[in-house]
Amino acid sequence: MKEAGRILELTRQMVKDHVRPGISTHHLDQLAETHIKSLGGIPSFKGYQGFPGTICASVNEVVVHGIPSKKVILKDGDIVTLDFGVNYKGYHADSATTYPVGEVSNDIKKLLEVTEASLYEGLKYAKPGNRVSDISHAIETFVKPYGYGIVEEFTGHGIGRELHEDPFIPNFGKPHLGPILKPGMTMCVEPMLNLGTKHVRVLKDNWTTITTDRKASAHFEHMILITETGYEILTSLKKE
Ligand code: MG
Ligand code: MG
Repeated sequence: MKEAGRILELTRQMVKDHVRPGISTHHLDQLAETHIKSLGGIPSFKGYQGFPGTICASVNEVVVHGIPSKKVILKDGDIVTLDFGVNYKGYHADSATTYPVGEVSNDIKKLLEVTEASLYEGLKYAKPGNRVSDISHAIETFVKPYGYGIVEEFTGHGIGRELHEDPFIPNFGKPHLGPILKPGMTMCVEPMLNLGTKHVRVLKDNWTTITTDRKASAHFEHMILITETGYEILTSLKKE
């Protein structure tokens, strides 16, 4: 799983340098697929329940599961969430980042900052002896003052031989509930925050999920390992 995470991060670092006005999400998808394979990985998402892409590329009001397309051309002021999944020798890694395209408004900048910060607030509670919903509660508590919509239909999750495993890790809720965290557990924590309403709906393609008010949505996700003393991020090359 560490190697899957390393391949994912190397791929992300390469692809993110291509995020700019004028590029299609299909092009980003192709770059990701080629890079993951060149490093010995297999795209986890491609074919997963029929998903057609290597990455999910979700622009502006798209919350999650945007399908890469030649018709979706990034433009100045957009945001795009790139969600990557890598399978290495049967074990998965999963991680997402929302990027600004060119110059974005201050409202959007703040949304990205707070969403990323909320991930790390949640992770402060990722340590042995705590329970899963301590992470959930920390994210909600941190986000509340900003008034953003916290998406409820999609959550963090366990990960390993399967891309999505128990437990679910919501981004809201009461503390001290759910399984007790233990060293060796691997999971994805992934707050999704909306500039407006928390409500989302799925388009007719059965994947693309948008905010019902069509205001922007941001998403940051890391895969972590619970250690003896806390956690280690497996989808980053930075040492914490
Ligand atoms: Mg995930
Ligand atoms: Mg993901």
